Amino acid sequence: MISEGGSGPGVAQDDVAIRFEGVGKRYRDGTEAVRELTLDVRRGELVALVGPSGCGKSTILRMVNRLVEPTSGRVLVDGRDTSGVDAVELRRGIGYVIQAGGLMPHRSVRDNVATVPKLLGWDARERRRRADELLELVGLDPHVHGRRYPAELSGGQQQRVGVARALAADPPVLLLDEPFGAVDPVVRDRLQVEFRRLQTELGKTALFVTHDLDEAVRMADRIAVLSTGGHLEQYAAPATLLSEPATDFVVEFVGSDRGLRRLAVTPIRPEDLETPTTLAPGDGVAYASTALEVDGRSWGVVLDGERRELVGWVPRAPLTEAMRRGDRAGRVADWTLPFDVTVQRAETMRTAFSALLAQELRFLPVLDGAEFLGVITPDVVHTALRSGARPTGPDSSDPDGSGAA
Ligand code: ADP
Repeated sequence: MISEGGSGPGVAQDDVAIRFEGVGKRYRDGTEAVRELTLDVRRGELVALVGPSGCGKSTILRMVNRLVEPTSGRVLVDGRDTSGVDAVELRRGIGYVIQAGGLMPHRSVRDNVATVPKLLGWDARERRRRADELLELVGLDPHVHGRRYPAELSGGQQQRVGVARALAADPPVLLLDEPFGAVDPVVRDRLQVEFRRLQTELGKTALFVTHDLDEAVRMADRIAVLSTGGHLEQYAAPATLLSEPATDFVVEFVGSDRGLRRLAVTPIRPEDLETPTTLAPGDGVAYASTALEVDGRSWGVVLDGERRELVGWVPRAPLTEAMRRGDRAGRVADWTLPFDVTVQRAETMRTAFSALLAQELRFLPVLDGAEFLGVITPDVVHTALRSGARPTGPDSSDPDGSGAA
């Protein structure tokens, strides 16, 4: 492996799948599409290139597989300078997905998927086996769809075939140019989720062009925001980009509703949750109404046993009312109401907030498995967003997080 200088902080050379080193592209007519771009994509990472139309996204992507030749600088894939690799060989080792799948209309779906294996000289049985395996992987039935022609599939199915074809020779790197641009929003949502899962499971490195910031926020590990001339304005994890836009351009690009966008990447953190008064089903009415009164609460959460399993919630008013009637015999269980909706801690604030809005109650319990952790209220959502919460877990380290390049 060739070792090159200029690694980002803390990024070992071996971790880099794609590296742009001062890369520029000037087209023959003099258009300077990209100027001095330096950018690393780590192995297994999904990086989205976003920016306004004409800022150079496709040019950058196509320089990786040499569909466009850089006019300055170097592009390295797996540590190899691509200018020294035969372009055809290079392309066979890099999956490429374009809008509407880019399928060959006069070939069957199976033959489309097997395009690269055929070029690589695999025998017919091997090709067919691989094609069928991939069709299944992307959620198509090879027996139903394999013999069809692209025009006999829906847009979403064509896009799946496009992904299957890109994966055929098991390339470590995938390039995607607006892959879901041509499918309707519902199918698009599903394809995004499925592609992301597939990419993670297979450990592929993916470089992804999109004009849709929400798509980038939902899918990417890191987002590169570009302005005209392929100028890198910011390169950061989605949550960082939305909470700490580095330049005026990024502020403008992510828009005034970036707070809302951030919901999708804001984790539910137990320390942000409200901890309500908790009661047990067997607690007496007198105790319960006093406890709620002392805490100044109009409701409490009912938990069972040491494992703090959620039973429901209890409003204070009927307890107080029972007390006034002198009815002290009742138990909390008699007044407990079930929750219609709960949310798991692993979900995002976006899921939690929409669940909160979908119900009458102003609070929503958060569980870790069966264990009750606390409740989400509108205040909790507000605080979590205002604190610029970042993702927890392995993705939270973001050495390039705050900076423009
Ligand atoms: P994006 O993908 O962000 O829309 P592109 O990479 O397609 O941007 O284009 C960047 C700039 O380069 C634009 O000004 C575009 O007009 C120009 N451009 C793209 N392809 C060519 C070409 N083959 N010849 C001349 N100019 C081009």
